[in-house]
Amino acid sequence: MAEVRLTDIRKRFGALEIIKGVDLSIEAGEFVVFVGPSGCGKSTLLRMIAGLEDISSGELTIGGTVMNDVDPSKRGIAMVFQSYALYPHMTVRENMGFALKFAGMAKGEVDARVNDAARILELEPLLDRKPKALSGGQRQRVAIGRAIVRNPLVFLFDEPLSNLDAELRVHMRVEIAKLHKELKSTIIYVTHDQVEAMTLADKIVVLRSGVVEQVGAPLKLYDDPSNTFVAGFIGSPR
Ligand code: ADP
Ligand code: MG
Repeated sequence: MAEVRLTDIRKRFGALEIIKGVDLSIEAGEFVVFVGPSGCGKSTLLRMIAGLEDISSGELTIGGTVMNDVDPSKRGIAMVFQSYALYPHMTVRENMGFALKFAGMAKGEVDARVNDAARILELEPLLDRKPKALSGGQRQRVAIGRAIVRNPLVFLFDEPLSNLDAELRVHMRVEIAKLHKELKSTIIYVTHDQVEAMTLADKIVVLRSGVVEQVGAPLKLYDDPSNTFVAGFIGSPR
């Protein structure tokens, strides 16, 4: 059974159809990357899966349950954004545990989950610092930590590295790959960076103007693109 399944998913803003019938099946443990040019609908698609945007028509299931009208907090997902607003007055530990505490989880369990996430992300020495005493990469790791502690079925990442400089981006790419290996989690990851897509994905979904152009393993798309758009987007660095 697919962990996440999209069936003829559409999104309209007024009269304009932005997502035009997307069918997609994502297996448990798969690292799936959405790529495509700016404005093609990557974020909108992700936000519909997260429940931050209504689905105009079609069906979304996560873990076998139809989620179209389910509250974002009850979908079993955790989302990491490009701009990772941390609470400036809280320590790293408090930032990571806040949502769990807010949801009424016992302190012992919150601490255990934060410690686990901090170990995975190598944030242990930084747990008592405030965000202003962290580097950009460290802050982004805290933002990822906030997602990990929620123990989601599916992680959603929307261009999480695009605010970082090139060197740090490469480093964080390695970190995210490690995270996927260690947690064996299902990840849907949006980027417009072909290299990021090629190195991270088990499966790449190429989008153009709200339509899926091709789905496949990175090398399959590279070697056997189904049209010139995919070839141009995956094949040639730019
Ligand atoms: P991407 O993430 O691939 O760059 P988006 O999903 O952000 O693309 O946007 C896809 C298209 O939908 C764009 O043309 C954008 O202008 C449009 N769009 C996104 N959100 C809204 C909205 N709330 N109202 C109207 N149009 C929107
Ligand atoms: Mg976007």
